[in-house]
Amino acid sequence: MSNLLEGKTALILGVANRWSLAFAIAQAFRREGAGLVLTYQGDRQRETVEGLGAELSAAVHCCDVTQDEDVGRLMDRLRGQGRLDAVVHSIAFANREDLSRPFAETSRPGFLLAHEVSVYSLVAVARAAAPLMNGGGSILTLSYLGAVRVIPNYNVMGVAKAALEASVRYLASDLGPSGIRVNAISAGPVKTTAARAIRDFSRILEDVEAKAPLRRNTDPAEVADTAVFLASDLARGVTGNILYVDAGYQIMGA
Ligand code: NAP
Repeated sequence: MSNLLEGKTALILGVANRWSLAFAIAQAFRREGAGLVLTYQGDRQRETVEGLGAELSAAVHCCDVTQDEDVGRLMDRLRGQGRLDAVVHSIAFANREDLSRPFAETSRPGFLLAHEVSVYSLVAVARAAAPLMNGGGSILTLSYLGAVRVIPNYNVMGVAKAALEASVRYLASDLGPSGIRVNAISAGPVKTTAARAIRDFSRILEDVEAKAPLRRNTDPAEVADTAVFLASDLARGVTGNILYVDAGYQIMGA
């Protein structure tokens, strides 16, 4: 590769550990010359994320995306460090019981929590980051096929991903006149901490391996390289898109 992100600064939210899709993206951004800022949700993750940040020479800050003050404080810190070129939102959460019982039994608090953490946070972060992206930039989020198809046990998270993908389109429309592009990668299933909360996740992986055109699962590095493309000037004409990086699984019927 050839320093596709040289001179750019990227904010990456959602690194929990070495297996996080956000960490694969951070590694690829660093390889391409980007300066990085990573965030962690709270004290429990601080040491891990600071360790991973040190590997990538990244600044590391605390930000619970459900707290407006956290988002505001983060942007104040970034403002002091110059402009921002890219934001990667790689965050989702739902109660474990809502990822195993029938969707019809989702509670009101469970529904609202999943949407607050996994969807509204993109809106809040995009609004706060936009003024730092004067002259243009790229905002990227991570979605999944459960947004458009019924995937066993994905339930409320599928509904949240549908709202996330619609939010990508509305944000792309609002922020496009300022030169800010907003896209999502719909990634194939990858064994991460968040994915392990989905009951029978290993069956989903087996199904992809058996049926995807490429007859294998998705490598986080493939998601990361697509994120590099979307953050780079190569994607200057691409906004409001949901780009599938899933070994082709989404085109298949039964
Ligand atoms: P992950 O490593 O567990 O990442 C999820 C991240 O969300 C964690 O860093 C988690 O932080 C963070 N988070 C949750 N609540 C938060 C809050 N209130 N404030 C700040 N951060 C919060 O799992 P992942 O699979 O890489 O997930 C990243 C994104 O990819 C998610 O949007 C997920 O839906 C999407 N995705 C995943 C797959 C897959 O199969 N793995 C496929 C398609 C799309 P803590 O751990 O500190 O709570």
